[in-house]
Amino acid sequence: MFLKAKRIFAFLLLLTFMITPFGNISMASRDEAVQGSASKFVLSRKEVVKGNEIVLDYQSEEEAEAVLVYNTPSGNKKEVHLDYNEDSGMYSTAITPDEAGEWTIDTVLLNGNNVSSSSYELDFKVFESVKDQYGKEGPFIYDDAFQDEPKVLVSDLNQLISQVYGIDQQGNTTELTVRIQGSGVDEVFNVYNDGSSVITDENSSKYQPGSYTLTYIIEGGSDVVKTLHIVSDVADSNFVRLSGEEVSLSANTEVARVAGKNRYGTSVEISKNTYNKADSVVIANGTKFADALASSSLARNLKAPLLYAAGSKLNPEVKAEIKRLGAKNVYIMGGFAAVSREIEAELSREKLNIIRIFGGNRFETSIEIAKQVKKFKSQNKAILTNRDSFADALSAGAYSAQNSIPMFYTTKNKLEAKTKKYIKDSGVKEILVVGGAAVVSNNVVKELTSMGVNVKRIEGSNRYDTSIKFAQTYYNNPSTVVMASGMDFADALAGGVFAASKNASMVLASEKLSSAANRYVTASGVSSIYILGGEKAVSGSIFSALSSSETTTPQPAPAPVPQPKPQPTPKPNPSTEGKIKIMLDPGHGAGSKHNRGFIGGNEGDSNWAYHLILKEELERRGFIVGTTRPRKTDDPSLAARGQAGRGYDLLLSLHTNATGTKNLASGAEIYDDVNPSYSNKTLALKLGNAIARSQGIRMRGVFYRKLDNSTNWYGVLRNNEAKNGFLVEHCFHDNPTEIRNYVRNYRKVAVASANALAEYYGMK
Ligand SMILES: [Zn+2]
Repeated sequence: MFLKAKRIFAFLLLLTFMITPFGNISMASRDEAVQGSASKFVLSRKEVVKGNEIVLDYQSEEEAEAVLVYNTPSGNKKEVHLDYNEDSGMYSTAITPDEAGEWTIDTVLLNGNNVSSSSYELDFKVFESVKDQYGKEGPFIYDDAFQDEPKVLVSDLNQLISQVYGIDQQGNTTELTVRIQGSGVDEVFNVYNDGSSVITDENSSKYQPGSYTLTYIIEGGSDVVKTLHIVSDVADSNFVRLSGEEVSLSANTEVARVAGKNRYGTSVEISKNTYNKADSVVIANGTKFADALASSSLARNLKAPLLYAAGSKLNPEVKAEIKRLGAKNVYIMGGFAAVSREIEAELSREKLNIIRIFGGNRFETSIEIAKQVKKFKSQNKAILTNRDSFADALSAGAYSAQNSIPMFYTTKNKLEAKTKKYIKDSGVKEILVVGGAAVVSNNVVKELTSMGVNVKRIEGSNRYDTSIKFAQTYYNNPSTVVMASGMDFADALAGGVFAASKNASMVLASEKLSSAANRYVTASGVSSIYILGGEKAVSGSIFSALSSSETTTPQPAPAPVPQPKPQPTPKPNPSTEGKIKIMLDPGHGAGSKHNRGFIGGNEGDSNWAYHLILKEELERRGFIVGTTRPRKTDDPSLAARGQAGRGYDLLLSLHTNATGTKNLASGAEIYDDVNPSYSNKTLALKLGNAIARSQGIRMRGVFYRKLDNSTNWYGVLRNNEAKNGFLVEHCFHDNPTEIRNYVRNYRKVAVASANALAEYYGMK
């Protein structure tokens, strides 16, 4: 794979700029402007030491030639071109700023059109030296986030340990070694600069409750020593993260899971459990939370389900659901970057009436949605939440839907002018701010108060806690509770209308429940609990714990239950019913076209050759194996590669790595899905260890490369529809020893990989 952008669109860019001055394409249509600002740029960091790289991604599923013009600290202008990146499937570039000081954005050009730069956060700051940025020379250990003597559950240990990281001589984050001693344990681990795993699920049982000493060691710098206490009871933990316990329900509580194969399928299942028919459906992007979150109240008023779309084609289950409901109208949330023209055209071909609701950005789209809601019900209340963070707002979706309360967005410190104006003009008198001052500051609260708005804030120590505070405040004594994943927005938001239809509160969960959540759902009045999403979203352990309170008298579901009723039995785990299906994706295409730094061949050819051997070894062990490249010359899009995983247990995108620098690197890496619903770190580690061991190289770790908090940087993982998906970097192909060794040992690596997979899936 490639760590840097390729320049295959350079010619196209040049052409664009040759034409622009003559006026042929300089007129920005409204659509294009909207499309531009609804997508976003992501900077890998906002502060950097001179001479280091900042990676700039343009996150949009649409093709776009992007050029940014910066004002440099010395008052010059610098043009930055973003090129297509074959791994992320997006436009990207690495900037190496050569001047210290503030770099501010001057102009943003998308497809040659000048779009407003104010809707993006693109400014960054460059420091002269490491000392200039941190007050001391590198290398050193950065430990500011580590609290004094934390008390943690063993399940939170990795998260805690990785709060500390190294800064090298150049000011970049770097790996550390950590030694853990105490209570009969003395072990040394590497901690990588993205905080990837140190303690695996398998060896976590070694860490018994007690006191431990952590010694962080960095080459060429001073050690840092920390004390921590491992506790066994969640009530004793002071570590701010979900901590959990098992749940025992009262005998009369019925539990049902509403889940599809993925977020699209789950939104369909939720719809089926809410409506027998509907005149309208609401469609929002299934990978970006903002429009979906704001649309809950509109969907409820339209008596419509919230369904998801992404890319250029409707999910077939979503399409079938629109037919089943007999819908005539489709309300599309957001601009073309959110829900594409192709999908709109597909819906039009079904003779559906399309109403697209959008503004220039998520602030404006939420205002447009509020205007629609106002047609149904005038409301002097509103909900305000941070535009970049769905975590706290998830629990508000059901409440917003049930009470027709519009939801608006703000940045942390300042209300957008348009939002402020709408709040004033539409007569909002009361605003519920969701989240603490870290997401919506007291400045914003002051701004609202000075407008004569009464402000109430709901906050918890984390998203799970916030959801419980919300539930306790607005749904005291509920008879029905809906549970959804707190790590992803999709199920909770699609479930907002469902929860509203049942007067139910929304409680967030993932692997376990907090004590407060446990108390809330086990309260005597709760007779039904619906769990949204598959086991990866809300874990099986909660579900079994809940449903195994086996004195259950079969209970008619509560009052207005539309059919068909969800099945209160968990789906059998595909790993135990028949054969396991693995989709292999040999990275890139054939020949040197996609190559970079590969010594003695081409990456795409090597990936393809290796996959044939791995396929053979997997089939020998009873797996059903598919391929995204039946022929060597095939080069499907990243979306097609990811979607090929549909119906499979695992998608493996096979690659070799390159540093892009003169430094030789070594080892194997696995990139796991950043979405916890698809992630499987246990399997990733197992496979990565087998791959590394078979070549006699080290396993560098399981990594999570993100575009933002919820999206994969790798295009193939972003589009993956298999139950789990990994991008595997078998070794470094610009390291001559390593690549030659790998190519000579394809069979050995394939055997080790197939054995690891067979063992995991119980197929040996
Ligand atoms: Zn590759």
